Amino acid sequence: MTIDTSQIKTAANFTELGLISPLLARLTELKYQQPTPIQAQAIPSVLAGRDLIAGANTGSGKTAAFALPLLQKIQLSNNKTLNSKSGEGNFVTGLILVPTRELAKQVADSIKSYAAHFNGAIKTVAVFGGVSANTQMLALRGGTDILVATPGRLLDLISSNAIKLDRVKTLVLDEADRMLSLGFTDELSALLALLPSSKQILLFSATFPEQVQALTQELLNDPVEIQLQSSDASTLVQRVFTVNKGQKTALLAHLIKQHQWQQALIFVNAKNSCNHLAEKLSKRGINAEVFHGDKGQGARSRVLDAFKAGDIDVLIATDIAARGLDIEKLPVVINFDLPRSPSDYMHRIGRSGRAGEVGLALSIIDHEDFHHFNVIEKKNKLRLEREQVAGFETVDVISDVSAAEKPMAKPEGSGKKKRKNKEQVNADIWLRRD
Ligand code: AMP
Repeated sequence: MTIDTSQIKTAANFTELGLISPLLARLTELKYQQPTPIQAQAIPSVLAGRDLIAGANTGSGKTAAFALPLLQKIQLSNNKTLNSKSGEGNFVTGLILVPTRELAKQVADSIKSYAAHFNGAIKTVAVFGGVSANTQMLALRGGTDILVATPGRLLDLISSNAIKLDRVKTLVLDEADRMLSLGFTDELSALLALLPSSKQILLFSATFPEQVQALTQELLNDPVEIQLQSSDASTLVQRVFTVNKGQKTALLAHLIKQHQWQQALIFVNAKNSCNHLAEKLSKRGINAEVFHGDKGQGARSRVLDAFKAGDIDVLIATDIAARGLDIEKLPVVINFDLPRSPSDYMHRIGRSGRAGEVGLALSIIDHEDFHHFNVIEKKNKLRLEREQVAGFETVDVISDVSAAEKPMAKPEGSGKKKRKNKEQVNADIWLRRD
């Protein structure tokens, strides 16, 4: 069943959604004045026990959309049966699978925060790789109500009998398209085989590529489908700057200096590229930290915490930072390398402009990127004006797919019509809505 969002009256407050008072009190403390659209639509369905496929822009409040009803269901069921996790064996009731370690910690922290007024009655544990499994085994003793996990570490813990999945009542796949993609196929199949056949399944993601949609239909039972992507409502401005090959770093350094961004998250495609770019920026007088999978978990956490706290101005990251990370008021995300897939583009840029804040997503592209960027735009139903920055004008501008495919063809209006003059670009290079 697909909900036609235009026909739905969005709940004005959380009480209307049927949430219980300990949750309402906490939401008031957190200054959540009203449910976001995804919360307004997902929470009643989850409370009613339905399976769900929920697609909404990243930063739109998805975590609370599944965490609040999950907490409520577990609390009410614990009350009814006078049951809680303790003394119950190593069982788990609500299992949330996420693709990255940082997201596991972030989601578990959010759930613990939402559960503050249950006074410890609901236990939430996060497990993920890169840190000692022993501490996690200890935390899982006596079972847990909610477990947030990355698949690999969860399988390790299951094989050590630290946790059992046969009493899971609700399974949530956060960043579901990533969890259902090839990279996780074996681990996810192994985990699904350990779950009871009767369970509620909730899938949340900003993007659901076609190949994933087929899989979801096999997995879910008559799911409620909610699709809320709306670029019109976005507070995120997307811009694309063209530059000649070999000039990307110079343009990036220029932009960072010119705008003195306090927090800029720059995406590249490989761990090595993080280090190379950091070195090149350092030669231009810009200090940047790197965030990628070759760093130890301790270093990863320290760097991310420092960046979130605003102690690091420029962070260069691979796509491990693209999913779900909530960095409050992050002003700018930059694609230095274009992401491989169109959906990764949406996840990357979604680190900025979250929860209604203004944000900026810049992509710096040279001639080799033109065709790929056209594909990213087409798949994401975007069309961005190619812009140039004074002092970094490209020799030629190819701005559409057909031109990119025919290198000899002259771009429309010889490229001149689309170019802005230098003053104009200088004047409005920072946040601006087209
Ligand atoms: P998420 O998409 O779950 O990562 O949430 C993005 C950000 O929005 C987080 O910082 C949340 O704390 C915040 N948030 C979620 N729901 C609400 C709400 N109803 N009102 C205000 N802020 C919210």
